[in-house]
Amino acid sequence: MEIKRYETFRPEETFALGRTLGKEAKAGGIYCLDGDLGAGKTVFTQGFAAGLGITEPVNSPTFTILQVYEEGRLPLYHFDVYRIGDVEEMDEIGYEEYFYGEGVCLIEWASLIEEILPPEAVHIRIERDTEKGYDYRRISIEE
Ligand code: ADP
Ligand code: MG
Repeated sequence: MEIKRYETFRPEETFALGRTLGKEAKAGGIYCLDGDLGAGKTVFTQGFAAGLGITEPVNSPTFTILQVYEEGRLPLYHFDVYRIGDVEEMDEIGYEEYFYGEGVCLIEWASLIEEILPPEAVHIRIERDTEKGYDYRRISIEE
């Protein structure tokens, strides 16, 4: 297990980091994103999508847990489980088909569904540090 640490000072830098990972992503990859509301999980995801070659707009699906993007190098399964009540809701959407499929999964608020995350998942945490400024983010990537 290896942890890489980054600092970003603007949203564009977080986007660029996501894009780098998106370019390198392989089929079956699962990327878990955690961090407070407004930390930058969706900004990272937008960069990741760009790295996969997706040009359509990517947003946080507010009332749907899953959004599928098919136009990139690999299918992107973008989960936002913030509003999930129970992990059984993941069964209802048939998550295993996506987790163990041919695409890449990116899961915002992944810690809420910890019990179903496979051990090989990559964990990305985004944190603010108000002392370092409003746009500062500390990002750790553990794989
Ligand atoms: P989340 O999905 O984690 O709730 P979003 O990605 O939707 O958060 O929003 C992050 C917000 O913070 C955006 O408005 C973005 O412009 C802003 N922001 C400011 N600095 C950064 C940074 N360094 N990295 C990412 N987002 C930043
Ligand atoms: Mg979000």
